[in-house]
Amino acid sequence: MLPHYSLIIPIYNEEATIAALYDRVCAVIDRLDAPSEVILINDGSRDRSLPLMRELHQHDPRVCYLSLARNFGHQVAVTAGLNYVRGRVVIVMDADLQDPPELIPEMIEQWRQGYQVIYAQRTQRQKESWFKRSTAYLFYRLLKQLADVDIPTDTGDFCLMDRQVVDVLNAMPERNRYIRGLRSWVGFRQTAVKFDRDPRFAGDVKYTFAKSFGLAINGLVSFSKVPLRISTYVGLFAALVAIVMMILVFYWRIAFPASPLTGLTTIVVAIFFLGAVQLLSIGILGEYIGRIYEEVKNRPLYTLSEVAGLERFNATATASDRDHPTQAHPE
Ligand code: UDP
Ligand code: MG
Repeated sequence: MLPHYSLIIPIYNEEATIAALYDRVCAVIDRLDAPSEVILINDGSRDRSLPLMRELHQHDPRVCYLSLARNFGHQVAVTAGLNYVRGRVVIVMDADLQDPPELIPEMIEQWRQGYQVIYAQRTQRQKESWFKRSTAYLFYRLLKQLADVDIPTDTGDFCLMDRQVVDVLNAMPERNRYIRGLRSWVGFRQTAVKFDRDPRFAGDVKYTFAKSFGLAINGLVSFSKVPLRISTYVGLFAALVAIVMMILVFYWRIAFPASPLTGLTTIVVAIFFLGAVQLLSIGILGEYIGRIYEEVKNRPLYTLSEVAGLERFNATATASDRDHPTQAHPE
């Protein structure tokens, strides 16, 4: 029998949390009204995470796993899970117990009310570092201002999605998987459940500053064209300043023909300023062109080295080359 509830949990060097994660997840899914599966995705862990996952699978057949052939990053790991998921109701959560599994019954309740995407919204994250909190706060507000779609603030990937939504996400060929953005983009009936974000259960944060920064840029570039316009505006402004300066200089020459023009510092500063603006603009342009390049190459999104408990197995997989019924479960 196919499971009704599917949990997707990406794992990157989480050997210290897997046992506790399993216990807390079981406490929740044991009490659900229909069978569940737990899909662990090993995102190229270098610790004992994979052997632990194998053990769990042997001990409890509800636990299945995919092992990516290297570290592809959190968003790709979740995408891989979504590609293999079999349930009618799909829940995505982190492995470090920052997303409390105890929230799942409340999400399922909302699903029964007819919502198809139920995302968890953090009301507070007091227990995380000041730096993480403030940068996250700023980023989510900036994204809200700039993005073409309404991406709710303070929501991560922790969510429940109906099969219909997952099928649509799987059918999207886009390779830059900013999942929380795509999830808003697809539409359907969406709602939030609020929760307090706990600190990590064990181990270090796997999202280094560089990875978080990359994710943030990805979110902005994938969902907004405003950065491209910034150079246009700055360029227009610089042109305006130049015209005013030209007129002033012209006037100076006529009014005071005897006094020479000075201002080496001004010239140097202006050169540096314009150089900076130009390089920045090229950089922004590069972000977009780089993404076009990524899409055009059309490499598989990830490679798999091992799959257990899930029938379909391809060594490589792209989001687009799978069989995706887009109109499943019309009820
Ligand atoms: N993760 C992953 N691949 C990575 C980085 C992280 O699969 O390259 C997983 C990690 O194991 C965890 C989740 O993504 O389950 C969130 O990571 P983390 O807790 O480090 O990030 P944060 O809490 O800061 O969002
Ligand atoms: Mg975490």
